[in-house]
Amino acid sequence: MASFHVLIAGGGIGGLCLAQGLTKAGISCAVYESAPGIVTAGYRLHMNVLGGDALRECLPENLYELYLQTSRRTPEREMSVMIDTQGTEIWTRPHIGPPNEGDRPHTAVNRRTLRQILATGLDDVLHFGRTAVGYEADGDGVRLLFDDGSSVAGDVLVGADGIHSPIRSQLLPEVGVVDTGMRGMWSIAPLTDDLAAVMPRALFDGFAVVTRGDGTIFAIGVYDPRRPIADAVAELAPGAAIDHVEPYVMVTYGSDLGAAPAADMPDFAHDSPAELHRAIRRAMSGAHPGLVELVDRIDESTIAPSAIRYLEVADPWQPSRVTLLGDAIHAMPPSFGAGANSALRDAAALARALDDAVHGRRPLLEAIGDYEERMRAEVFPIMRASADPDAVHSDHVPDLTR
Ligand SMILES: Cc1cc2nc3c(=O)[nH]c(=O)nc-3n(C[C@H](O)[C@H](O)[C@H](O)COP(=O)(O)OP(=O)(O)OC[C@H]3O[C@@H](n4cnc5c(N)ncnc54)[C@H](O)[C@@H]3O)c2cc1C
Repeated sequence: MASFHVLIAGGGIGGLCLAQGLTKAGISCAVYESAPGIVTAGYRLHMNVLGGDALRECLPENLYELYLQTSRRTPEREMSVMIDTQGTEIWTRPHIGPPNEGDRPHTAVNRRTLRQILATGLDDVLHFGRTAVGYEADGDGVRLLFDDGSSVAGDVLVGADGIHSPIRSQLLPEVGVVDTGMRGMWSIAPLTDDLAAVMPRALFDGFAVVTRGDGTIFAIGVYDPRRPIADAVAELAPGAAIDHVEPYVMVTYGSDLGAAPAADMPDFAHDSPAELHRAIRRAMSGAHPGLVELVDRIDESTIAPSAIRYLEVADPWQPSRVTLLGDAIHAMPPSFGAGANSALRDAAALARALDDAVHGRRPLLEAIGDYEERMRAEVFPIMRASADPDAVHSDHVPDLTR
């Protein structure tokens, strides 16, 4: 196929990974991202084999190595653990997904660092400050429309523009956004040796949830990279725009999926960071001294409100030159830390499908249709399981067969 060009709306984790995969395959593409740059949105991301394998497939070798070196150190126990506020273990269970083994298993990343790695080398491809509002498509091509009235043309359009995707709204208007009502906050506390010494050991496992037993939960994840980020960047991608990040502990506070918010919950959307900091301290008062110390040390400038929403599961649709990946088609609650990993999985699978089409191994719409069918088969079960309010129970085994 001569001069094939892919338009990607959205330069989040999935859109950038797709651009890397297409660039590696020699396929022309352009990413249009509404934000003015790689902004901070969230902190630590749990990684699994689905996401990690996709990164290996799509990234050049040096950037994949950079991802591995800037991932958190391998914890003693790479699993989910729930403890009570006194630090007593309630349950542990393996993370969902295929076995995650080897010398450097996939652990967790700093979200902004991963996005900066994914953006490296895409200077000519990635366009910031471009907000997509819709598209026009026919049998020969597709045109992506922007809010300033301009447009660009290509052979395929990929909506990688997150849960509120205007591309999905036009393609599959029947798919609604579900608001769980779960409100909360993110924050980080610097991980220092003296803090580490007093924190309950379970907080150093893969990912920890502290429950107060009344529907209030604190999700806690350590991020301590295998190698200082600045050193890894200097060796593997000198000059790349990747910030140095010191080790930290991510602390989130809010109500659990399906639980009514406790009476002492603050107004996450309107209270100031200082008020939210006071609220989380109150919520942890009387807890294990290491937990009290951890929330005391939260850096107020990092406190940001969060709201958990997800998408209804779409019925199968007819393939066309417009397709979707990641949160734009399967945004899910973070119950299993699988959303970003699934977006990466999609990116690798779609890059493969488009490579097949470009090289004439299969017709374009057949390749896109096959990509979409496999995504529905492989990711929709994770999406359904993540939205199950029982996901947090110790004896809950996610049903990944439907
Ligand atoms: C609290 C919380 C914790 C989570 N933890 C994990 C975890 O540990 N592991 C995990 O795998 N997943 C996790 N997730 C899920 C994960 O954040 C998402 O699944 C992931 O970010 C999806 O990537 P994406 O690229 O599809 O979409 P996004 O990250 O949403 O990226 C979409 C991009 O499109 C841009 N955009 C939006 N609209 C437009 C437009 N109109 N035009 C152009 N650009 C546009 C946005 O600015 C954004 O950059 C978590 C989610 C939450 C809420």
